[in-house]
Parts: sequence; C-alpha cells; structure tokens
Amino acid sequence: MPLYLTKLQLQAELNRCLGCKAKPCMNACPVNCNPHDFIQFAKENDWQNAVGAIVLNNPMGQTCGLICPDKFCMKACTRRNVDFPINIPRVQATILNTWRKDKTHVLKPLNGKRIAIIGAGPAGIAAAARLITEGYFVEIFESRHEIGGALNMIPSERLPHEVIERDWSFIFEPDRILLHLNSRIEQPAELIDRFDGVIVSTGEPNCVSLRIPGEALSISYMDYLYEPEKYRTDGAVAVIGGGNVAVDCALTAQRMGASSVEMFIRRRIADMRISKAEYLELIDHKINLNGMTSPEKIEEHGDLKILWIRRNIFDGERWHGLENSSIPLPYFSLIIRAIGSRADEKTDNCDRLIYAGDCKTGGSTIVEAIASGRTAASELMNTLGMAG
Ligand SMILES: Cc1cc2nc3c(=O)[nH]c(=O)nc-3n(C[C@H](O)[C@H](O)[C@H](O)COP(=O)(O)OP(=O)(O)OC[C@H]3O[C@@H](n4cnc5c(N)ncnc54)[C@H](O)[C@@H]3O)c2cc1C
Ligand code: SF4
Repeated sequence: MPLYLTKLQLQAELNRCLGCKAKPCMNACPVNCNPHDFIQFAKENDWQNAVGAIVLNNPMGQTCGLICPDKFCMKACTRRNVDFPINIPRVQATILNTWRKDKTHVLKPLNGKRIAIIGAGPAGIAAAARLITEGYFVEIFESRHEIGGALNMIPSERLPHEVIERDWSFIFEPDRILLHLNSRIEQPAELIDRFDGVIVSTGEPNCVSLRIPGEALSISYMDYLYEPEKYRTDGAVAVIGGGNVAVDCALTAQRMGASSVEMFIRRRIADMRISKAEYLELIDHKINLNGMTSPEKIEEHGDLKILWIRRNIFDGERWHGLENSSIPLPYFSLIIRAIGSRADEKTDNCDRLIYAGDCKTGGSTIVEAIASGRTAASELMNTLGMAG
C-alpha cells in the first residue's frame, strides 16, 4: 500500500467521515489526537488548522500516521458500522506531508529549569517537545548516532527514516534543546545533581536470549534490523519468533535477497500476535511459517548453520517440548533471534527522576510511547511545581 493517499483518495476518506459528535476516534487515541476536528478542517480546505489540530497533542504526527496500528482510532471509528473505518492514520500522514510548512508550537519564556532526557525514541522526543513549550531547557542523551530509537529498526518501506527527521525538524529549537548523540548514560541517577529533573526513556535495549547451545552463531533482531545490509545473504534465513518484530525481520531478509525465509514459532500459527494484514503479507511474500516449534541448538558446518528444531505440543495451557522430536535443518546462512527484549533494571528512586515509554510499560506502540513521554513531562513539571 502506498504510504500517502492521492488527492482523490484523501477527498474520498474525508467525505466518508460522519462527524460523530461523541468523537469516539479521539477518545480511543492514547494522545487524544482529534481526527473528528482535523477531518472537519480539511473538509473545509482549512489545512493550517487541520495541521494544527494534529500536532497539538502529537509532535510525531507524520511518523505515527505511517505506522500506527489500527487498534486505536480506526477500531473506534463509527464508519466501521456502515462499511469500513476511515483510514485516519493515512489521512493524518497525508495532511502533514502535504500541508505542514511551519512550526505551530507556542513557546513560553524560558523558566531557568534544565531537564535531562535519556533516550531519543518517541517517548523522549515527546517529553522534550512538551517541556520546551512550557519554558524548560532540555538536554537529550542518546547512545546511538541518530534520533528515533526503535523506529529506526522499522523497514523503510513502512517508514522512510527521513520522516522521523521531518517530525523532529518541527520540534527542534536550538536555544532550548541540546542533543548529545553517541552518549550512553550508564546510571541515570548520575544526572540528578546536574539537572532539575531527569526523564528516562531508554526503551528495551536488551534482546531476550534463546539460552541454547550455539546461540552465538545467530544474531539478534536489533543487530539485524538496524543494519540489514551488513548481513545481506542470498542463502536461506531462519527467523526465530512469531511477533511483529519477527515479521519485519522475515520480510526484510526476503527483500534483501534471501533464497528462502522460514519463521519458527513456539505457538500455533493461529495464535501469532500479529495483525491479519501482517499475516497476509507473510503469505504473499512466501515466508514459510513453522508453528509449534522451538530451537534446541545451533551448530556450524562450513559456511552454513545447522538449526536443531524441536516439536512443541499444547496442553490447553502451556507449550511443552516433545521428547525425541528434534530434527536438524542444515541449510541456513543466517539465523535471526526475534523473541523479545527487556528494559534495563530500574535502580533509581527519586521523584525528580521519571521513567517513560517502553522502559516503563514494556513493548508498546509509537503512540503509547508518545503518550507516556508527555505524561512523564507533566508529572515532572508537577513535581517541580511548574506545571504548564
Ligand atoms: C522492528 C520494530 C517494529 C515496530 N513497528 C511498530 C509499528 O509498526 N507501529 C508501532 O506503533 N510501533 C512499532 N514498534 C514499536 C515502537 O517502535 C516502540 O514502541 C517505540 O519506539 C518505543 O519508544 P521509546 O521511546 O519508549 O523507546 P525506543 O524507541 O526504544 O527508544 C529508546 C532510545 O533510548 C536509547 N538508549 C537506550 N539506553 C540508553 C542509555 N543508557 N543512554 C542513552 N540512550 C539510551 C536507545 O538507543 C533508543 O534510541 C516497532 C518496534 C520494533 C523494534
Ligand atoms: S469516529 Fe470515524 S466517522 Fe466518526 S468523527 Fe471520527 S473519523 Fe469521523
């Protein structure tokens, strides 16, 4: 599906909106974005107010519009009862891509307070966007060489990475934000004496391990998705895991030229926690799905990796490995682990240090991370007695 709507498609979506007074679309959005209002403005060709209504609560509105799942506003959209919901995220992304030209935020005078934000993913960026409008100066410490956090792992077919930069360009204020890239903070508490407050938005940077012999012969989804070209292969690829991240790994490997891609999923295929669209995409791209399987060990033979796979059975509550069911699959060039990730341990306890985003809530979505970052900023401002 193309990333943006054509003018005709946009007009058709706008015309389908019922203008529901109760605004179920807005109530379902974690950041309270207001599709009812921005669609009404757009219908009247008032594009500036449409843009303003989108970015009022969502500083990363264009990025969000391209990747937000359909379980929030679209699930609540009343139009679903007539035929199918308005494609609100794509309408939003199209409006911002076409008509956003200038910054719309109003900045209160600087209040002398300085906040450190650790991690420049959506939660950290949203916290920064909120704090600077309220008069705070923020310093952002990011361990990688770029902003965007886990968004940089999303394949560019779904999210061109310049869109993240574009959202950022409408947030960034050089006299209010100091961005330190390649700056890992080992202990968040070490910043508390230098700043009035600290927001920790470090996501889940630790990939879950398989705990099997030969694991070092595989690579993590993070290593793979941050730099897929580094692992380009024309051989067979195995992806261990069955969630959305594993799907991105499988589709990326196939696009990068793998001769075949197989996913190994602990559960039944019917229990995979992915959307119908993702499932259909896997089928479309001829990804082979092996349900009820778990890896047991990995060995090496010449250039190839041998993946030993065990059969699982389901007893109605849990999955168990079936004894003597292991078989070796001796033909993989690359094995990717994608079975989840974890946050760093939280060791700090201070009301001026607040956690936000995936490191607080566990793996979520962009819009939930943005909501969490905004909430953390508000909590911190309340603590400092300078709420906006
Ligand atoms: C492959 C993949 C696909 C996804 N697809 C979607 C999707 O389609 N739709 C959707 O809504 N969501 C999707 N998500 C989820 C979404 O990206 C995350 O929920 C969101 O990015 C979480 O934001 P965050 O700011 O909490 O953390 P992150 O985005 O993880 O950002 C944390 C940042 O902190 C930095 N950091 C970590 N430790 C330190 C430290 N000690 N010092 C300094 N910096 C540090 C990291 O480098 C990172 O930049 C996807 C995630 C992945 C991995
Ligand atoms: S719920 Fe759907 S139809 Fe109703 S106002 Fe929101 S976008 Fe329009």
